[in-house]
Amino acid sequence: MDKPMPHSNNDKHKQRQQKIKQEVDARIDAAQEEKGLVLVITGNGKGKTTSGFGTIARAVGHNLKCGVAQFIKGTWDNGEKNLLEKLGVEFHVMATGFTWETQDKDGDTLVAQIIWKECKRMLQDNSLDVVLFDEITYMVTYGYIELDDVIEAIESRPSTQSVIITGRAAHRRLIEIADTVSEVRNVKHAFESGIKARKGIDW
Ligand code: ATP
Ligand code: MG
Repeated sequence: MDKPMPHSNNDKHKQRQQKIKQEVDARIDAAQEEKGLVLVITGNGKGKTTSGFGTIARAVGHNLKCGVAQFIKGTWDNGEKNLLEKLGVEFHVMATGFTWETQDKDGDTLVAQIIWKECKRMLQDNSLDVVLFDEITYMVTYGYIELDDVIEAIESRPSTQSVIITGRAAHRRLIEIADTVSEVRNVKHAFESGIKARKGIDW
């Protein structure tokens, strides 16, 4: 067990904590606006997709209605889909493998457009509380879907709906329209030491 702090230290600690609490409480009171959010999770580190799905799990746990579109699919089994479909989450996955493997721009544009159409429908659906567009940043970068179209659809969604966008190198304008943006930085990754991607951890 930790030794009790000497009195003077303890008092100082208490004062400091009280001050922090007052400041945090004041900020909580000041935050009055309630609306659906746009979140962007970008950067080169691992954790973007897992963060997006973590939020979906959180929302499902509150009985909120969620939808997911995944714009890049591996050829492997999809753990998130296996779980969330059972829980009533609407799920759309691009039918091809990783786009940098297919090297077929016309074909990829076609499948990207099919999923994007589902996204647009979800963005007009009042009953959906949270939607996740996983890896959509690449679709915009590659020109498979129009940036203007994406921005317009997001901005005209129901005011209570939240949208999560993930993927590396999010376009500046997606960052501009977002309320919350996080950049996941790579410090190190197991793959760099030759360790294989792992079921339940990487997919
Ligand atoms: P995750 O799905 O694990 O949250 P992510 O969405 O942040 O990862 P992506 O760029 O979508 O990352 O890459 C997906 C796959 O690539 C995952 O299997 C992940 O472990 C792996 N990966 C992510 N970041 C790195 C990295 N910096 N170096 C090597 N592999 C990575
Ligand atoms: Mg990802």
